[in-house]
Amino acid sequence: MTNMLSLRTKLISLVTIILLAGFFATNILNYQVSKGALRTTVLDNELPLSSNNVYSEIQADLLRPIFISSLMANDTFVHDWSRDGEQDPLRMVRYLKQIRDQYKTFTSYFISAQTLRYYHFEGVSRQLDEANPEDSWFFDASRASEPYVVNVDYNYQQGRAITIFINYRVLDSDGTFLGITGVGLQLDSVARLVKEYQTNFRRNVYFVDEKGLIKVHANPAYVGMTNIHDLAGLGPITDQVLGEDRGSYTYNTADDTILLTTRYIPELKWYLFIELPESQALKDMQQGFLRNLAIAPVVIVLTILLIGYSINIFQRRLEEMAITDKLTGLNNREFFDVSLNQSIKRFHRDRQIFTLLMIDIDHFKPINDKKGHLAGDAVIRRAAEIVADRARESDIVCRWGGEEFMILAANCNLQDAHRLSEAIHEAVRGETFFADDPDHKVTVSQGITEVRADDDEETLLARVDKAMYKAKDAGRNRTEAL
Ligand code: GH3
Ligand code: MG
Ligand code: MG
Repeated sequence: MTNMLSLRTKLISLVTIILLAGFFATNILNYQVSKGALRTTVLDNELPLSSNNVYSEIQADLLRPIFISSLMANDTFVHDWSRDGEQDPLRMVRYLKQIRDQYKTFTSYFISAQTLRYYHFEGVSRQLDEANPEDSWFFDASRASEPYVVNVDYNYQQGRAITIFINYRVLDSDGTFLGITGVGLQLDSVARLVKEYQTNFRRNVYFVDEKGLIKVHANPAYVGMTNIHDLAGLGPITDQVLGEDRGSYTYNTADDTILLTTRYIPELKWYLFIELPESQALKDMQQGFLRNLAIAPVVIVLTILLIGYSINIFQRRLEEMAITDKLTGLNNREFFDVSLNQSIKRFHRDRQIFTLLMIDIDHFKPINDKKGHLAGDAVIRRAAEIVADRARESDIVCRWGGEEFMILAANCNLQDAHRLSEAIHEAVRGETFFADDPDHKVTVSQGITEVRADDDEETLLARVDKAMYKAKDAGRNRTEAL
């Protein structure tokens, strides 16, 4: 037993060490490799991926206003009304109001190329003037080669709302330029993305115009005021960054290295900047590493529980197998020897008496010979059941040999043993062992003996054996006591 216990402890310790070492080794190795490749992973994969996501969201947000403006620019009403000399301005105003209401835009407008009048959903406001720099967006759009020009207005005083204007060129069927029409719409995605990336991924997302002026930033203090040329760290590489449509860069601040991905968004004429401080990237990775390590104890404990459980099951099964007779399920002779030894000791110590009963099936050989070995086995099994059923719970019943059984009846004198023995005779005689041959009766011969003061195992067993043979000699189917 102690041997088994220490074996189990050894096995479990070994498995624990192997698992722990395995977990640590793979994790640390993994961590080292990932750490070495951290900068390239972030710059080549993670940040560009974020940048793609941000860009596609903005593009998706731009689709709607572009579509609405395109509808307006191709509307025959707009064409006809403009060509017919802009009669009845209210009709245009009504049209613009209807567009605004239907598509829930911020504003809607038409500027005539002929008269330079600015019509919007609330009326005719004024006439544009090429000399006025505030009106330059119209003249730029008039000369544009693309069908539309996007203009962004970032109003950081009023709730930092970004409004985009889609200035769509209205062309007659013969290609004559009639004016500019379009809608203004608040671009929600930009501000939302900046916030989302900041909180969810600790990434700094901001937008910079072509001159390097910060247009959108999580920190309002930067917006509209700061040019990235003037920033320490980023300043020296600004010209390089703004000279490329997209790129990945690193620069150093006072206490960190910043990993930066940029991308030009032509629709907004802005650059998208996404930054991740290297220390933050490392922290994220360490967290992942610690998470993996936290799983280790769980896996190890589960594995050990499983091993302990399996060992218990197999151990119990082995122990059972070691003390059980296979054919009858009774105790085997090895177990009986141990029990007898203990009982004799207890008898010498406490005078706890007991009696042995040896039971041998009469004329068993002919059963084997005539009915076959399997039928013989069945008789042994059935006889074992009968013997075990008659014995008490506290008695030890074993299969002593081929067709011999032994009962160690505790606290049982010869008189009690005779009664038990008689009950067994009766049950065996009454049993039909062969369904096809009910007249074939089986009997047993029994020897009984009570333990005596000077007994050891040998003398006791010799006496019960002798008693049994006495019963055989006396004509079988009986009990003799010695
Ligand atoms: P007796 O009345 O004198 O006891 O006659 P017997 O035929 O029972 O004689 P003996 O005890 O010498 O024979 C026992 C036989 O039991 C011998 C052996 O072939 C047979 N035997 C022993 N173990 C098994 C077993 O597990 N299965 C079967 N079928 N037969 C067994
Ligand atoms: Mg025998
Ligand atoms: Mg026999």
